[in-house]
Amino acid sequence: MLAGQRRVPSGIMIKIDLSPLVHAKNGARQVVDLNLDAITIEQLELNYLQGRLRFTRTDTGILVEGILDTEIATECTRCLTSFYEPVTFEPDNVISFPGAPLTLERPVRVTDNGWADISPVIREYIWMAFPSNPICSPRCQGICAKCGGNINLGECTCEGTEPIDPRWEVLRTLLDEPGEST
Ligand SMILES: [Zn+2]
Ligand SMILES: [Zn+2]
Repeated sequence: MLAGQRRVPSGIMIKIDLSPLVHAKNGARQVVDLNLDAITIEQLELNYLQGRLRFTRTDTGILVEGILDTEIATECTRCLTSFYEPVTFEPDNVISFPGAPLTLERPVRVTDNGWADISPVIREYIWMAFPSNPICSPRCQGICAKCGGNINLGECTCEGTEPIDPRWEVLRTLLDEPGEST
């Protein structure tokens, strides 16, 4: 896909033509370079998806391996700002031959026409690589506990409030409590 192309609607398929491998001898290989802009895979909004995948024909199916880079739209758990979290992941899965049953371990199979939609594998690996507490920057100062302003953006104008390390936030809340409860 070319840069500047409009966002593809969700439910996108990443279809690869594997017909040459289905009919090849074991060990035959095919390399596919992915370079997709602004795609959405179910709830995952990706800024791009790039990298190289290697497909290898085996006895029991087609092995897919490689390294992919992406950026996923998410929200900072400290300051609640939307940003793209960069994620690199290494898919490693076996695509079943036409007619084989789909399982949890093998969610993809080649169609009778020789195509495979590998988006279920991509999605699974992105979820595994995605951090549980995404942070927009290691230096993110979060939001002010008093006024809710984003300290990174200078939105907090509370008197005497110094930007503080979030690790001290709990301690400060404890210290503040007696004064506030009067
Ligand atoms: Zn942040
Ligand atoms: Zn404030």
